[in-house]
Amino acid sequence: MSDAFESPIARQIAVLTAKKRALKTVKTPRPATTRIFTVSNQKGGVGKTTTTVNIAAALAQAGLKVLVIDIDPQGNASTALNVDRQGDVAGTYEVLIDAVPLADVVQTSPDIAGLECCPATLNLAGAEIELVDVEQRETRLREALTTYLGEREAASDPLDYVFIDCPPSLGLLTMNAFAAAKEVLIPIQGEYYALEGLSQLLNSINRLREYLNPNLQVSAILMTMFDRRTNLSREVADEVRQHFPEQTLSTVIPRSVRISEAPSYSQTIITYDPEGTGAVAYREAANELANQGAHR
Ligand code: ATP
Ligand code: MG
Repeated sequence: MSDAFESPIARQIAVLTAKKRALKTVKTPRPATTRIFTVSNQKGGVGKTTTTVNIAAALAQAGLKVLVIDIDPQGNASTALNVDRQGDVAGTYEVLIDAVPLADVVQTSPDIAGLECCPATLNLAGAEIELVDVEQRETRLREALTTYLGEREAASDPLDYVFIDCPPSLGLLTMNAFAAAKEVLIPIQGEYYALEGLSQLLNSINRLREYLNPNLQVSAILMTMFDRRTNLSREVADEVRQHFPEQTLSTVIPRSVRISEAPSYSQTIITYDPEGTGAVAYREAANELANQGAHR
């Protein structure tokens, strides 16, 4: 092996080039029916929003029709997708509280064809409390989504994927996401308490499966902010994979400054740095998810 190839940077470039070449040849199949994911983890800052917007963007860029529902009052997914969430713009709040149809509030991404977003505006922060007194408080989103998917189907323009970006809690907003979804995508950051958090989350999902959504399945676990240089990242990833071999995606998302910069330019990594390691990793993760769906 030449000296150049043995330098870590040269090796990284070679690996990245090989991955990009492989991505050119893989197919991103369209699912037979709309796949609805809730991207959940009650732990804060583990990469839920980053995963939601970047996988959604990658799938849309591959030619699929994708809707992101921002059900987190922080509105980070709406910001990253560059949709309007200011002033009197209507969004998830109106869908949940006033039963406004999703079709009336969904915005299309200005940057990526086939990608749309139901934005989270500031008033969504009050919804957690307001929902307590509303009828069918846990299934409001499910109702709205079922109607919208039916309308899209009837218009011969069906959606392929829906991703719901959850807040870091297990309150009524997250419950609405769990009730509306068919599948759960869990992003996990390689840190000491990750596994403990994961087992709490799985217990909660098991409980709510009993009374809210019997068919809900945890279909994907994605390691985020992975740092190859630390043993901890690797150990957590190994342990998660050991416990959940079927669900854990083999792609891991590396820690990357570019990934964390993209939202401040109202962009996903897919448009902000399309050739970098972050975009390549999220495109790989999106393809893995899409091909996993093809086998269902
Ligand atoms: P919250 O629980 O607050 O909703 P979250 O789980 O949605 O958080 P993110 O907002 O996606 O987490 O990520 C938390 C922070 O980490 C953000 O500042 C984000 O830009 C950054 N981040 C996410 N993924 C990566 C990555 N792979 N490399 C570097 N930074 C990242
Ligand atoms: Mg978030």
